[in-house]
Amino acid sequence: MRPIQMVDTKTQYHHIKAAVDSAIINVLESSMFIGGKVVADFAANLAAYHQSKHCIPCANGTDALQIAMMALGLKAGDEVITPSFTYIATVEVAALLGIKPVFVEVDKKTFCIDPVAIEKAITPKTKAIVPVHLYGHAANMEAIMKIAKEHQLFVIEDNAQGIGCDYTFSDGTVRKTGSIGHIGCTSFYPSKNLGAYGDGGAIFTNDDQLATLLQMVASHGQSKRYYHDVVGCNSRLDAIQAAILDIKLKHLDEYIAARRKAADYYDNAFADNEKITTPFRDSNNKHVFHQYTLVLNGVDRDSLSKYLLENGVPNMIYYPVPAHKQKMFDAFGGSQYELPITDWLTERVISLPIHTELEEEQLAFITKTVLDFMKN
Ligand SMILES: *Cc1c(COP(=O)(O)O)cnc(C)c1O
Repeated sequence: MRPIQMVDTKTQYHHIKAAVDSAIINVLESSMFIGGKVVADFAANLAAYHQSKHCIPCANGTDALQIAMMALGLKAGDEVITPSFTYIATVEVAALLGIKPVFVEVDKKTFCIDPVAIEKAITPKTKAIVPVHLYGHAANMEAIMKIAKEHQLFVIEDNAQGIGCDYTFSDGTVRKTGSIGHIGCTSFYPSKNLGAYGDGGAIFTNDDQLATLLQMVASHGQSKRYYHDVVGCNSRLDAIQAAILDIKLKHLDEYIAARRKAADYYDNAFADNEKITTPFRDSNNKHVFHQYTLVLNGVDRDSLSKYLLENGVPNMIYYPVPAHKQKMFDAFGGSQYELPITDWLTERVISLPIHTELEEEQLAFITKTVLDFMKN
């Protein structure tokens, strides 16, 4: 059996090596390292896949969120509503711009922001809602868009973990996550579902005016070369990464299917164990399983984690400390929040290996090792 890894980008690369290697050499030969046709073609292909009118590539997912907030004109003193149970980037960029992140509770089953909690957190200073499609399961976008409309708020979807997820509205409309809000943001960090071989990110919108602004902000606020109309930043996807991503984009649906197949295997193996709650899949949602995350019931998580590691099964806690309890947010009154569901989850979640290259033999070994521990 191949050693088990949390993410196996190397084996995945070997399956597409010929195409990737020649695409990289083509960029080297063209000497167009920044911008150019390769980046533009990838952006167009990704926009089409993503059901978004515009795709603006940028340097990473964190920048994507920052550029989104800047283009929407959010400024110091404004408030954005976000979950605390998330990766720090979502809320860090708000803080960086002097915007107050207002943390709200997540839904215990989906791990995503709770619309009821959003409504309660709205104040006259609220400008935007930033839902995170955590682990690859979409937040309740139908309810979120309704609230946003009623209160005239922007919605910035943090789709770093959700790329490719289909979300079905109650009228039957199916949309990709990240194409539903005013702006969607994603990351091409190597371990993400569409991962580069370096850093990368992208911003999506269906609004022409907003697209122009996003493009400007990502490029020094330029309307045309050397004419800087607004304060921007410098955030670019390089051509080598775009060339690699364009190849991987063609495989994205197949990659998602492989992740879902591994998740099905886990679900079946753990179905009857009362100490384990397997990931919830809402019927309106096609989970893309960026992570496969269990909630443990009455299990010593540290001991399980250690036991798995000792037996060659890597595992991770995403995330051990919620945003509101990070020192970084003391200045924003982070410690004053009471988010019992978030705290409850951060104490009980554990993520198992999930990627496109898991073999049945490995899955059998992982599930057996987990279940062996549960017998004690
Ligand atoms: C990975 C990630 C980001 C940040 O992406 P980078 O490319 O690492 O900057 C933001 N939000 C979430 C939820 C993520 O998982």
